[in-house]
Amino acid sequence: HENRIDGKAMADRLVADVAKQVATLKQTEHVIPGLAVVIVGDDPASKVYVGNKIKRAKEAGLNSIKYELPENCTQDELEQLIERLNNDADVHGILVQLPLPKPLSEARVIELISAEKDVDGFHPQNVGRLVAGQHSLVPCTPLGCLIMLREHFHGEAALSGKHAVVIGRSNIVGKPLAQLLLQANCTVSIVHSRTRDIETLCRQADILIAAVGRPQLVEKNWVKPGAVVIDVGINAIESDGARKLVGDVDFASVSQVASAITPVPGGVGPMTIACLMQNTLNAARMQIQHSDPIRT
Ligand code: NAD
Repeated sequence: HENRIDGKAMADRLVADVAKQVATLKQTEHVIPGLAVVIVGDDPASKVYVGNKIKRAKEAGLNSIKYELPENCTQDELEQLIERLNNDADVHGILVQLPLPKPLSEARVIELISAEKDVDGFHPQNVGRLVAGQHSLVPCTPLGCLIMLREHFHGEAALSGKHAVVIGRSNIVGKPLAQLLLQANCTVSIVHSRTRDIETLCRQADILIAAVGRPQLVEKNWVKPGAVVIDVGINAIESDGARKLVGDVDFASVSQVASAITPVPGGVGPMTIACLMQNTLNAARMQIQHSDPIRT
């Protein structure tokens, strides 16, 4: 497929670029950006994600430290660790892998993380800044999608006036992505589980982004010929007795009409992790230079 957007290659370039900037920061400021990754419990998918993040952090030259807490840890224990990391000058980014086991409160943990170390961009202060059009730490998956679109269109200016339709309205992907696209001067529609005649709306999109969590929901007849399609979904399905990962988009049929499309795996996933490295670098710069948030 020559219309496939290669997220893996883009992510490799972004991580290499971050590594260069980390090396410069080490020389000029004598600081190595530090990323603390906290995982609670034994969820297998979470373990894979955390493993990938630590591996990429090493490639980017960051100091990464993994904190593993048991499934039955208390809210207090988790919060004490966060407070300690907030006060640790060697830690510039804190990521708590979600979802947390029940009955731990994600909202309380997210609010406790110092906003300037919030490399996931989920703290209400960062969410508010994003909506207000101020620079902030931006959630990694939406940032990865935006960077892919910028690269595909050779700059953000080309996004201006395009109709972007985002399927899904989660706090992690759909909502922040809609905000980023709005700032890039797209006309933005958000469609979701209660939307009527979703296909007709999707078919109007110049840029269609699926962040739903439904395997291969988006079919060929949902897509305007020539549209650019970004598939955020990661869904494990059984096919011919084997387990495999597919997106929210039916790649085989949609790639016949789209002008460009991201594959799953190898699309948004690697870019998400690369953006975590970029966010950690940005967070470290802000903290070292006492500067305002940086726009990526
Ligand atoms: P979520 O469950 O929080 O939100 C899903 C959204 O889709 C909801 O807003 C819901 O209204 C909407 N929706 C559900 N069913 C629908 C339907 N039939 N039609 C239209 N809209 C519908 O999920 P999320 O956290 O936003 O994640 C979405 C997908 O993206 C999942 O597959 C997840 O695994 C994947 N994901 C990937 C990355 C990555 O790095 N690539 C990161 C985060 C999430």
